Amino acid sequence: MRKVRNRALSVIAIALVCAALTGFFLFRYFTQGDKWAGSVYNSDAYAGGRLRAGTVTDREGEVLYKAQDGEVRYAADELTRRALLHVIGDRAGNIGAGAVLRFASQISGYDPINGLWTPGGEGGTLALSVDAGASRAALSAMGNRNGAVVVINYVTGELICAVSAPGFDPENPPERPEDASGVYLNRGISATYTPGSVFKLVTLTAAIETLPDLFDRDFHCDGALYVGGGSVTCPDAHGDMKIEDAMALSCNCVFGDLALELGGETIRQYAERLGLTDSVELDGILSAQGSFEIAPEGSLDLAWSGAGQYETLVCPLAMARLAAAIARGGTAPELTELKTGRESPGTRILPEETAERLSCVMDYCTAKTYGDQNFPGLDIRAKSGTAEVGDSQPHAWFVGFNADPAAPYAFAVILENSGSGAAEAGPVANAVLQELVGGG
Ligand SMILES: [Zn+2]
Repeated sequence: MRKVRNRALSVIAIALVCAALTGFFLFRYFTQGDKWAGSVYNSDAYAGGRLRAGTVTDREGEVLYKAQDGEVRYAADELTRRALLHVIGDRAGNIGAGAVLRFASQISGYDPINGLWTPGGEGGTLALSVDAGASRAALSAMGNRNGAVVVINYVTGELICAVSAPGFDPENPPERPEDASGVYLNRGISATYTPGSVFKLVTLTAAIETLPDLFDRDFHCDGALYVGGGSVTCPDAHGDMKIEDAMALSCNCVFGDLALELGGETIRQYAERLGLTDSVELDGILSAQGSFEIAPEGSLDLAWSGAGQYETLVCPLAMARLAAAIARGGTAPELTELKTGRESPGTRILPEETAERLSCVMDYCTAKTYGDQNFPGLDIRAKSGTAEVGDSQPHAWFVGFNADPAAPYAFAVILENSGSGAAEAGPVANAVLQELVGGG
């Protein structure tokens, strides 16, 4: 009798272990199955390193990539293929941040019930948040200049445009995979640049929150600010001005002076709070991390760091996110490359009052310096930057947003070694925004 009972207990124990293991497998299957299915080692999903089946579209349903029976086709026209290259990825998988690699299981049409089986075998369809028309407009407007155009819908956090140059036609890729010219890099997301005067947004934020009389102060520029045996210089003597004019005229002397007053540690704290010294997360990948070096108190380097020169580096995506936060009253949206259409609750990085003041100053910059007439039908609030980078031509920056809830776009444009920010990068921002508000 005892023997029978022992056997019964053994059987129950074995059954319990089996149930536990089955439960564990099912848990892993439902939580990890998409990763197993999307693995490049799964021959049902991949053929020769390429997805067997699946479609990727832009936010309007325009087909950007289609795999069928292991054959991959990109968009029919070369401009679209080049403009969306870094977002979609290339056949060889050299563009690691491309959607085809990152969202493989969704594109394949994987679900836990049917696995990779889809009716007709055409795989799934993944709708990205990017706008193909805006991306084409961005690459066309960049011409043959290198750099990046990043546009975010600041209500939803959807990435509308992430165009990077140089690139290549994915239907005609470069022959040498070891090509070191950086064609595989999405410069809007995975590169950092000297910010130049767009960094004055950070110095201004620190000044607004630290110096209560900032907007009442009278500033003066003689064209040079002498510090520690050297000088911070402006192209012209800007004369007497208020802080709004110092921003609109992009007066290095005023911002150099503010940096000396605020101190390097305060500016560093604001660069960090505004998200410029950390990576920005985008559906699980991280952007390039910016940096701000604290120069010694009272030094020429500290003065220049307040005007975005010295050792400071920022990522274009982080600059666009900051512009988005200013547009939204101080909260930075959570960013995504997938079409959601949902409002992002965001994370507060600025008090609402400070965001409102920055927005007003940026509005003034456009009215006084960039010209409202250069952005017809838009309410562009922006800051330009002409970032000195050694002996070559400066980088041209234009960062800002359209203050219109019906077309809520924040942007960062960077053109490498291309001269004046307002004159060169401003028109690129306008071309992309016109395409977006015109409905493309
Ligand atoms: Zn000046």
